[in-house]
Amino acid sequence: MKPKIAIIAHDGKKAEMVAFLKDHLAELSGLDIVATGTTGGFVRQAGLNVECKLSGPMGGDAQIAAMAAEKQLSAVIFFRDPLGKHPHEPDVQMLMRICDLHNVPLATNPAGAHFLLRGMALEKKI
Ligand code: PGA
Repeated sequence: MKPKIAIIAHDGKKAEMVAFLKDHLAELSGLDIVATGTTGGFVRQAGLNVECKLSGPMGGDAQIAAMAAEKQLSAVIFFRDPLGKHPHEPDVQMLMRICDLHNVPLATNPAGAHFLLRGMALEKKI
């Protein structure tokens, strides 16, 4: 079974997320991917298989947090927009807390996500 990672991008970071997907298609194709709703549409357009949860503001981040708490995720990539206001900010904080609580690798920007995938490749997880 492939390791499963979650990908989420706030609206202000979706363009950067798409560029990241294009630059990391080889590594990402070795993974099962789950994403929040709108993000997942972009992941699919990039040619990757993806399981889509609800959109972030509708509870998608909370669904992904539940998966992290249940040890279903090997990592979370969350392209956060630090300049935007988000109605679901409590869910965003909760997701990051759950990752820290359960020691789930979490990257919150493209540079960190790059090294996260590198690390998974080095450890032959992908
Ligand atoms: P989205 O949600 O992928 O449905 O846009 C992301 C978020 O804002 O948490």
